[in-house]
Formats: sequence, structure tokens, C-alpha cells
Amino acid sequence: MRTYKTISVKKQEIEEIYCNVCGKPIQKNNHGYFEDHLHIEKTWGYNSKYDGETHHIDVCQSCYEKWVKQFMLSVKETDSKKNIS
Ligand SMILES: [Zn+2]
Repeated sequence: MRTYKTISVKKQEIEEIYCNVCGKPIQKNNHGYFEDHLHIEKTWGYNSKYDGETHHIDVCQSCYEKWVKQFMLSVKETDSKKNIS
């Protein structure tokens, strides 16, 4: 048998997100969700230049578009909607 009690739990939620490239805030839409943007979290391997560091990067859609245009090879695109049945 189990009995339960109600407790309050503090949790963290994202208050603001800034684009690392232009420094502008990522805007929230009418539903309170942040506009879609690129988020990268990378933990570097022990033999790399950044040995075990975890880096976090947020990039707005405008900066992402400018960034990927500089790539020698284009971004590979797949339509995720086609995989949903
Ligand atoms: Zn930006």
C-alpha cells in the first residue's frame, strides 16, 4: 500500500534565449513558445582541442541562413513531414 502527499517542486525553465551570432533575443510566438532556431550542444572528446568541455550555441533563423550559405557543401535537406504517416 502506498500513501501520497503533495509536495512543491522548483524547476527551471528557459526565460530568454539569445542568438550567439547577432545577440538578438529569440522571440516567443503567440503561444509562448520560442521561434524555431538552431540549438547545438556539443561535448568535445578528450583528445580534442576542447578536451571534455560542453559548448552550447543558439542561432536564430536569419543568422543560420547567412551561416550555411558560407558552407562549401550545402546543407542536406530531408522533409520530416514525409516520414510521418
Ligand atoms: Zn541571429
